[in-house]
Amino acid sequence: VNDLPFTARTAAELAEIDRRVLVHPHNHGSQSERITIVRGQGCTVWDAHGVELLDVMGAGNWVAQVGHGRPELADAAARQIRTLEYYTGFDIFANDQSITLAQRLVDLAPDGLDRVFFTNGGSESVETAFKFARLYHHHRGEPDRTWFISRNFAYHGSTFASGTATGFPGIHEGIGPEFPNVARVSTPHPYRAPDISPGRDLTDFLIEELAATIERIGPGNVAAMIGEPVMGGAGILVPPADYWPRVRELLSRHGILLIADEVVTGYGRTGAWYDSADRGMQADLVTVAKGLTSGYAPLGAVLMSDAVAGTITGGDTYLFHGHTYSGHATACAIAHANLDLLEQEKLVDRARTVGEWLHETLAPLAGLPLVGEVRVAGATVGVELVADRETREPLMADWVTRALREKHRVAAREYGNTLVMAPPLIISRAEVERAAEALTDVLRAGA
Ligand code: PLP
Repeated sequence: VNDLPFTARTAAELAEIDRRVLVHPHNHGSQSERITIVRGQGCTVWDAHGVELLDVMGAGNWVAQVGHGRPELADAAARQIRTLEYYTGFDIFANDQSITLAQRLVDLAPDGLDRVFFTNGGSESVETAFKFARLYHHHRGEPDRTWFISRNFAYHGSTFASGTATGFPGIHEGIGPEFPNVARVSTPHPYRAPDISPGRDLTDFLIEELAATIERIGPGNVAAMIGEPVMGGAGILVPPADYWPRVRELLSRHGILLIADEVVTGYGRTGAWYDSADRGMQADLVTVAKGLTSGYAPLGAVLMSDAVAGTITGGDTYLFHGHTYSGHATACAIAHANLDLLEQEKLVDRARTVGEWLHETLAPLAGLPLVGEVRVAGATVGVELVADRETREPLMADWVTRALREKHRVAAREYGNTLVMAPPLIISRAEVERAAEALTDVLRAGA
């Protein structure tokens, strides 16, 4: 065994080394079960035992827009590594791939997003957007604008600033003082609306709450609000249509920037290149990652207006912010090849078709006793579980994910009491049906 190359271990050995050495991100320490994924093709992945799983969660993490094992992306990576794997992008340097990719992202973006800064992923993009927002106000003579407004149950990452903005209670525990000056407001969740009087409009309530929060902090102290156009980790929450336009209007009135966190929604997931455009956000900064490379390389970016970029880097202003791998040549070449596939195979439009299939096959679940609501946004679906449909008492969904995997060989994911699917955009109708039948079977059996 020890003569084998380090990567060629048996399934049992891998699991043993894993348990002993590897610290998993977002992992519950008491879990001894380990699943080692070793290969992927299309919407299928295989574990180290050779067990096949239908991937309806975009490589488990909302990525994989173009599916697994695409030779076009492998070729792009190999070609770029042979030509130039990496060179710094600091100061006056850049590589050709990062320059052309920046132009391409801007060309695809809604009007008003004209400049691009590259990062290595979603959390870094959010960190960067926060710093840029503060720097923008600082250079414009408003250094007191240091506050950020986020929302309960938002997911913006797990580094200090992005993790503070994340609105899941557990992420804040045990790490001492967090990033200062982050306030959170209510989630736009029609099914679980805050306790408002009957007949009261949800958006009215949310806008009044936001206005009161801004007043409490002091309008001149707020740098930016951050929000996912459609909330992913919160369980596919689509806000009322007038929510973002009214938020935007309120923020503009107070000179507050809006950051659209499109790490999940960007590059096709909900059937648009940038979902924020369709929701009337008119964001000043947009954070992206995941779908930009379909997960074939770690890469993120912040798109921003000329006004923001010009203020933080214009004239003699030195931008003291950046990462070794900002604009990594190989990652950018992979992103180009990924965008080529999204365009050639019309996968952004296809996300809407996948959404129709998900709706058709999963909407009937809403009749089952354990299901509170089924929510579809493009190629994503959240099935919210309840112990009691009257009281809407949440029912945790971990057992559903496990049963889907063990009984049906379908890999989905749960977020609290919501079962989520965000499949590769290339998924076939037959594969959607297979996943839907599996979920229906599990929920019927559990009822
Ligand atoms: N923003 C959103 C909306 C996300 O869903 C995520 C991750 O799921 C992040 C930011 C953080 O991205 P990363 O895990 O790449 O740091």
